Amino acid sequence: MRAKMIAGNWKMNNGMAATADFISGLEKWFAEGEGQKAARAVKSGRVEVVLAPPFTLIASAVSAKKSDLIQIAAQNVYHKQKGAFTGEVSLSMLEEAGCKYAIIGHSERRHVFGESNEELEKKLIATLESRVLPIFCVGELLDERNSGSMKHVLTTQLESAWRSLTSDILADMVVIAYEPVWAIGTGQTASDADAEEACDYIRTLACDKFGIAASDSLRILYGGSVKPENSRSLLSQSNIDGLLIGGASLDLDSFEKIIETSL
Ligand code: PEP
Repeated sequence: MRAKMIAGNWKMNNGMAATADFISGLEKWFAEGEGQKAARAVKSGRVEVVLAPPFTLIASAVSAKKSDLIQIAAQNVYHKQKGAFTGEVSLSMLEEAGCKYAIIGHSERRHVFGESNEELEKKLIATLESRVLPIFCVGELLDERNSGSMKHVLTTQLESAWRSLTSDILADMVVIAYEPVWAIGTGQTASDADAEEACDYIRTLACDKFGIAASDSLRILYGGSVKPENSRSLLSQSNIDGLLIGGASLDLDSFEKIIETSL
């Protein structure tokens, strides 16, 4: 059985005090009422709760945590270990700071900062050589969906990234997030059927390249305007193993409600 992942991407939001308040509020919720059920699901490995704060808040998030109920992710990585790369952050720095995961290839990295498939392959490989695990994002633009090329875009993004991976690495270490760009931050969530079709397609691609066992173990998340009102039905799709949440992860109450729908 694939563990569900509920991951919040804070993007460039929040500060130190807000981070500490959010983490302690979430841990308090885990200790009481409905949250206790969530804590049991996390402890038994059925659900994983992840937060991705900006780089400067990773240390605040890690030090605010009093338990292992919440895992911390970075929103980006650089593939080189150290050196003259002004403005970048290495995987050893993220490891030392306490990150379990790193988001790679978020649509804002691809489309606002121009990160290419070649660059994202390097980031994926470097991450898999570290102790940080990748959450690798793929997804099509609105024009690409409207012109019927969603599958072609997903194929290109994935095949360039995972061409040198083995089945074991894919199965044990990689999380893929399907995030249609037209659904991110727009309030326009993909329908359950559209999200499922894309996630099913990703699993089929994984099966063709890595075999049935690896593709059955691969966790695939959906992201794009997820809210408590739509999270349950998205999570009930057979190929959706979790959610990557932007806006709604900034609000503790909404984030807790989304976790509840994964139980
Ligand atoms: C995201 O940032 O990955 C995202 C899906 O954002 P939102 O939930 O706000 O659409």
